[in-house]
Amino acid sequence: MRKKIAAGNWKMNCTLEKASELSNKIIEAGSPDGVLTILCVPSVYISTLLDKASHGNIQIAAQNVHHKPSGAYTGEISVEMLSSLGVKYVVIGHSERREYFHETNDILLEKTKLALSAGILPLFCCGESLEIRKSGAHLDFVLDQLRETILTLSVEDFKNIVIAYEPIWAIGTGETASPEQAQEMHASIRNEVAKVFGQEIANDTSILYGGSVKGANAKEIFAKPDVDGGLVGGASLNGEEFITIMNSF
Ligand code: PEP
Repeated sequence: MRKKIAAGNWKMNCTLEKASELSNKIIEAGSPDGVLTILCVPSVYISTLLDKASHGNIQIAAQNVHHKPSGAYTGEISVEMLSSLGVKYVVIGHSERREYFHETNDILLEKTKLALSAGILPLFCCGESLEIRKSGAHLDFVLDQLRETILTLSVEDFKNIVIAYEPIWAIGTGETASPEQAQEMHASIRNEVAKVFGQEIANDTSILYGGSVKGANAKEIFAKPDVDGGLVGGASLNGEEFITIMNSF
């Protein structure tokens, strides 16, 4: 059965003190029954937060991983390192990685395969720019991102993927896709998954929406039948706001 997920992407924010405070608040509140909460934290805090937070339905995720298994890549983090810490989830293909670090679909597929081989589940992001949305080619564009990456996996591997649809024009802009726009894209993604892997697998795939989700709009978005939760940036840095989102299913 597909999971309901509230994922917070802290990005490059928080001192250790703030990270502790924020995670304490979330742990204290607890993830509601049937909801998996995933905190995607800066890698320097993974160890500390794993020790206190990673149990049951609250998990700590990495925000990125390198696409080579090991070697002379100064400053990078490998899947082996993450799995040796006990990390179970990693964000792959966030639009900021695609844009600022020039991560192509090929690189993202390499990362995905490596993560899966180490038993780490990818939160795989996709999404279109405003220009593409305005041109009306958004559905094809996003499906192509998936066709070139996770839809080429084996069915056994694909079962371990969580998809996050994040329209770039809605990330950090305060502008949210309407629940109908999110539903249209999520249904189209699920339909494509069904074509490749069958309806049962498609029904079991969690597809999250990301893009200016906050306490005030989460309920409406999560109520759509093909939206299984959110990947939340800005609002995940505010404990109360994120706890409201966790409770919006
Ligand atoms: C994100 O970066 O994944 C995101 C959705 O950011 P925000 O919620 O701030 O738009």
